[in-house]
Amino acid sequence: MRYLIVGAGPAGCTLARAVAERTDAEVLVWERRDHIAGNTYDAPDAAGVLTHRYGPHIFHTREEEAQTFLSRFTEWYPLRHRVLADVHGRLMPVPFNLVSLRLAFEPAQAEAMERRLTEAFGYGARVSILRLRERAEPELRTLADYVYENVFRHYTRKQWDAEPDQLDPAAMSRVPVLVSEDCGYFQDPWQGMPADGFTAMFARMLDHPRIRMELGVDACARMTLDGANLRVDGERCDETVIYTGALDELMRNRLGPLPYRTLDFVFETLNQDEYQPVGVVNYTVDQPFTRITEFKKLTGQKLPGVTTIAREYPRACAPGDTPYYPIPDAQSAGRYAAYRREAERCPNLRLLGRLAEYRYYNIDAIVTRALALARTL
Ligand code: FAD
Ligand code: UDP
Repeated sequence: MRYLIVGAGPAGCTLARAVAERTDAEVLVWERRDHIAGNTYDAPDAAGVLTHRYGPHIFHTREEEAQTFLSRFTEWYPLRHRVLADVHGRLMPVPFNLVSLRLAFEPAQAEAMERRLTEAFGYGARVSILRLRERAEPELRTLADYVYENVFRHYTRKQWDAEPDQLDPAAMSRVPVLVSEDCGYFQDPWQGMPADGFTAMFARMLDHPRIRMELGVDACARMTLDGANLRVDGERCDETVIYTGALDELMRNRLGPLPYRTLDFVFETLNQDEYQPVGVVNYTVDQPFTRITEFKKLTGQKLPGVTTIAREYPRACAPGDTPYYPIPDAQSAGRYAAYRREAERCPNLRLLGRLAEYRYYNIDAIVTRALALARTL
């Protein structure tokens, strides 16, 4: 008995380990890149700074199962992630909170808005900008307009080439307005960075006598799906295959391409101790890039006299680009559902992960889903 897992990202690695531990089967993992860990891959750059090649990743969760599972493979550097927005040169906390409000408005106006916010939602509430925009009170309308314009509108146009209200509301709810002074980017109880990096954590996860990892193998070049039949190297395959790549690619774009956003990262190493006050600064009103990450501020790496930053430029994904983000809108969801129905005709094919499920999942959600799937195999 053998399982074939396509992709060695968080989904594939977690599933491989969970299956190897729950069954006595062999687990073969195919990864087309020359490294494991998927988009969480991190490695030292030429200056020795631990950087994330595919964008900054911070682990955060309220799922105890995911936290407990990952903690078997790593110690944690306890990061409480903070993000500042650059609004016309003034830095203010994101999610927009009462501290941001006091920076953005004169004291009397800020006080009136704060009172209204607390009356409407209660101190400590997390309110989506889309919900805040529905309020009729004049103070809250002014506030909502300010936050929409200065935090969400331009950033979202850059990120998605769409207006905030054209996307699945869940996308905007990821970054609520906070009726509190909480300046953390995430509100999850567990937050941190794997002490030796994500790649090291996933390498330990794959280190199991019944897991075999093959890098540089593109499953789409070796696998075909024809109705209910899966073929590998031209032969009918009855083994269970768990696919974590893009579904339109596996299906040869039969129903048309699924849209994705990709990112161009521009890395720069500077001969200075530090570049910016926090790990991530979002450029929410100007600049063609969305954000600047300074990696040392995320990992806690001590390396005097040098630091590496990355600017992120989102754009539509063309053939050959890395598909980073499934697009959270109704039209894309409809096309994905049609692909999924086709894929479900094949009884030994399972879909898992941000690409294969075409969902805007964080690492913890993927780990939780992979553990749940392993229980059913
Ligand atoms: P991936 O990480 O994409 O891994 C899929 C793997 O499958 C890849 O290695 C790919 O090469 C391989 N593959 C695909 N097709 C094939 C094929 N045909 N043959 C062989 N191999 C194949 N989440 C957080 O929790 N915190 C964050 O701070 C965070 N920041 C993010 C920042 C950015 C810029 C992005 C894009 C995402 C971020 N995420 C974050 C989300 C996180 O990246 C995903 O939740 C996670 O990577 C999903 O894991 P996955 O295994 O499903 O997909
Ligand atoms: N967002 C925004 N301004 C910000 C931060 C986020 O407009 O300063 C919007 C944007 O549309 C983004 C979404 O909220 O895609 C979710 O943000 P999050 O930081 O969760 O995105 P991630 O980078 O994790 O994908």
